[in-house]
Amino acid sequence: MMDYLGPIIAAAEKSIVREPGDYEEDGMRYCGKCGTKKQKDLSSCGIHRKVMILCKCAAEKRNAEDEAWREEQRRMYISSLRANGLQDRAMRDMRFENDDGSNRDAIDKARRYVTSSKQKNDIVN
Ligand SMILES: [Zn+2]
Repeated sequence: MMDYLGPIIAAAEKSIVREPGDYEEDGMRYCGKCGTKKQKDLSSCGIHRKVMILCKCAAEKRNAEDEAWREEQRRMYISSLRANGLQDRAMRDMRFENDDGSNRDAIDKARRYVTSSKQKNDIVN
């Protein structure tokens, strides 16, 4: 059987930098920081290989980066909704904390509406 994965895996391993402190044990590479494996055995189509994997600290770093990216996407989405929904810039400063108390009835209704909307969103999410 032709080994299609071999060249791909070899190229990927060349791109992986060996970090200072990394060490070999039992034929596997380990992270010098967290002490977890950076390689694992993989069998596919009768071919056995050692492939690179993320150690615990690299996986945590990647997860944190992914979460930061998702949060940035969420902030950008909310910002675009605000920009499209409140096209009059003066309305963007209309917040409960900026209320001058001149129309208590309208503010009370607005607070009830916001509280109700938040509760509905909590149920959906
Ligand atoms: Zn690590």
